[in-house]
Amino acid sequence: MKETQLITLDKTYLKEKFVEYNQLYFNNSLPKVPIFSIINTPNLAGQYCVRWGKKNGVLQIIRHEIQIDENILWTEEKLRSVLVHEMIHYYVEIKKKKPKRDGDFQHWGLFWVMKTKLNWKYNLHIKNREII
Ligand SMILES: [Zn+2]
Repeated sequence: MKETQLITLDKTYLKEKFVEYNQLYFNNSLPKVPIFSIINTPNLAGQYCVRWGKKNGVLQIIRHEIQIDENILWTEEKLRSVLVHEMIHYYVEIKKKKPKRDGDFQHWGLFWVMKTKLNWKYNLHIKNREII
């Protein structure tokens, strides 16, 4: 597929890309495919969210979700940079030593390290903000 060709956004496609990028860029370290939602929101290309809950009496993340905006003219390249951005949030979340219920996804620390590494290694153009 040409990088400039527009793609049709659907959940099956997003799941396939997640599996592909998890293998390519994260060494399959993201434990499971998140819930994907296609959303309609101004000024936001993508978003990673978690839901907390108790499982066997232990507070933990019970749901990972990645939301992708439907209003953008997505090319494979653009989607890759946004999806991998959200996947880095996922990666940072599961690498935390202690579950921290901050609900605030920052773009420094481990996020910055991963972003810089992936951009340098694979030329992915991942930005600090999802706004395009
Ligand atoms: Zn972000």
